[in-house]
Amino acid sequence: KDLQQRYRQRYPASAALYDEAVAQTPGGVHGNLRHYPPFPLSFKRAEGARMIDVDGYTYTDYFLSYGSLILGHGHPSVREAVEKVWQIQGTSSFGTPHPMESEMVKVLREFYPSFESVRLTNSGLEATLLAVRLALAYTGRTHLAKFQGHYHGSHDQVLLNIHIDPRSREPIPVADSFGLPDYVKEHTVVLPFGDWESCEPLLERHKNHMGAVILEPMMGGYVPAPTGLVQNLRRWTQENNIPLIFDEVKTGFRVSLGGAQEYYGVKPDLTTLGKVVGGGFPIGVVGGKQEILSLCSPLRSQQPLFHSGTYNGNPMSLAAGLATMRQLSQPGYFDTIVENTRKLREGIEQLSEHYRAGWTTLGVGTIFNLVESGEPPLSKASGDGRLRRLQLDYLLMERGVFSKPMNRFSLSGVHEAQDIENTLKAFEQAFAALAY
Ligand code: PLP
Repeated sequence: KDLQQRYRQRYPASAALYDEAVAQTPGGVHGNLRHYPPFPLSFKRAEGARMIDVDGYTYTDYFLSYGSLILGHGHPSVREAVEKVWQIQGTSSFGTPHPMESEMVKVLREFYPSFESVRLTNSGLEATLLAVRLALAYTGRTHLAKFQGHYHGSHDQVLLNIHIDPRSREPIPVADSFGLPDYVKEHTVVLPFGDWESCEPLLERHKNHMGAVILEPMMGGYVPAPTGLVQNLRRWTQENNIPLIFDEVKTGFRVSLGGAQEYYGVKPDLTTLGKVVGGGFPIGVVGGKQEILSLCSPLRSQQPLFHSGTYNGNPMSLAAGLATMRQLSQPGYFDTIVENTRKLREGIEQLSEHYRAGWTTLGVGTIFNLVESGEPPLSKASGDGRLRRLQLDYLLMERGVFSKPMNRFSLSGVHEAQDIENTLKAFEQAFAALAY
């Protein structure tokens, strides 16, 4: 209640927009993740690493539109590419094949050697939906294995997690969303994102009807898999001829340019990408084995697996995405983002230690998050930890550090030394204010 009052006073324009939105849209947002209490802020302008909200407050942006803007807001090369395409072709979209499609596929194949073939979609959700459908069709089996807490978008088959049955101690899949059909629960095996020994028995038990295994090779984009898990999954799925899908929508072009598959040195059968690939415009990618992807070819002699989309491969996303990848290919560009991420993390950790705040950081490459120090990264923050994190996140926001609604940090090529210094100042003030 206090927060509501305080924020209505501090952010009157955002509050008014929220009140208007909530009267005509569920929760006032067009995606459940966008809501945070007491109400989400609205923004009107951005440039580089900075965003300005509708009340005129300026922030250093670490949210970067769910991590997608790895060149920051309005990068000149992205702007130019999009404006040029619009100017030359006189339209935003043809809905027909386009010369930039093959160019995009070629570039993606250079970064991701596991891509023998590629299909483009409009979002990460559509990419994981297509990848799972392809894998199940390829094997002719019914069950999907997914990992506890891993996010693959909001389609039926990936919105399940585990609850432990208090009597049998068996993990039972429970829907994360209201309104899922029962067959989804019956056809999904939810695995713990723990060591291989805790996954193997579940996989073995269901292997005869298992058609695909999907995972975020780093949960939430920043929690690396427990040692050996990814390698063992690769071996086991290969032995059992079950396609392994890496959902790299978050980790692609962020953990390293070649994604988590490059980091682990493991080649999945199918990979999904999104976010960074579209340079701030909608996109999704399914790449991988020709043998599996060809199931959706209209040239197939038997009925193909149907896949379509009005805006698939739309020229605006391709122009922005290709400009982004050209920039990322510049020698040293990505390494500098990694180095700045490291400096920010190191600074936060030192401040946390100094103020005995109890936080450390976790992540690889250009993304990280704060986790409670001394706790295994997979353990859920306790009630106390969650409250402390909430307080910290609001103090940071009030001091011009924006990471809502995920409170995870993604960096870009335009976060400079001064931004990092300002952010560390905000952390220092927040840690001091909380007086741990
Ligand atoms: N998979 C992962 C790992 C994601 O992080 C996300 C989005 O956050 C998705 C899939 C869904 O992508 P989109 O929001 O583009 O549909």
